[in-house]
Amino acid sequence: NHETAFDISVAPVPGMGMLCCFVDVTELELVGQQRRDFVANVSHELRTPLTALLGFIETLQGPAKHDPVARERFLGIMEREAGRMARLVRDLLSLSRVESEERRRPSGRVDLGGLVRMTIATLKPVATDAAVTIELIGANVPTPVPGDSDQLTQVFHNLIENAIKYGGSGKQVTVSIRALDDAPGLRGRAVEVSVQDRGDGIEAVHLPRLTERFYRVDTHRSREKGGTGLGLAIVKHIINRHRGRLRIESEIGKGSIFSVVLPVE
Ligand code: ADP
Repeated sequence: NHETAFDISVAPVPGMGMLCCFVDVTELELVGQQRRDFVANVSHELRTPLTALLGFIETLQGPAKHDPVARERFLGIMEREAGRMARLVRDLLSLSRVESEERRRPSGRVDLGGLVRMTIATLKPVATDAAVTIELIGANVPTPVPGDSDQLTQVFHNLIENAIKYGGSGKQVTVSIRALDDAPGLRGRAVEVSVQDRGDGIEAVHLPRLTERFYRVDTHRSREKGGTGLGLAIVKHIINRHRGRLRIESEIGKGSIFSVVLPVE
């Protein structure tokens, strides 16, 4: 989908004319462009809360200096904006770590059922706040897979947290675990963990781009819910490291299912 880029050098060859050398630098150009886009995105994401913080500091030093009600309100907003910056830095560090480890095979072994159960327990307060109930199916299936326990916890944390955030208040989230004898694209036995919500769903055009860094279907909604736009990018890199697959299915008005398939061997 991209134009081909060449580096061209021309040199005279005595007695023979000219030598013209073409080097295909398309890949290099693309990587450079992606890096520039990423830096621009990060700067933009950091500048938004920073500008708000600076504005409120100025107001607190000036017009609102002796207004205790305004002070209280502005400090609340500043805390939220600082929290947004902290989450962004946390996710950027996570992303950088998982990217650099992507080529190294994980050496541990993980019981996925136990790990998913623990992750749900950790997210219980978030679910309760959103009036969401989480149903777990198949947690007793024996599911040892090779993997990095912290990273796989992060995968299911991000997917279940998204299902709570975007699934809608009062709705149910279902997490199902099942053993597969054979999975498309993977050799041998595998385990599938799927996270289903009953939210508004995602239009098909967005699905292939959801795991791109900073890609959001609705930026305002994501920000409002404390999102950084990096959660699914982190998920993708961790699953790649585990030689697994991520499948996303969604239907408008019905909800979405994010399924992770991990090889057992
Ligand atoms: P964010 O921090 O914005 O949630 P993610 O990388 O986790 O970032 O997700 C990217 C985008 O994908 C979100 O902004 C949201 O628009 C969409 N998305 C993710 N999970 C769901 C879901 N379960 N239902 C609807 N939309 C979702």
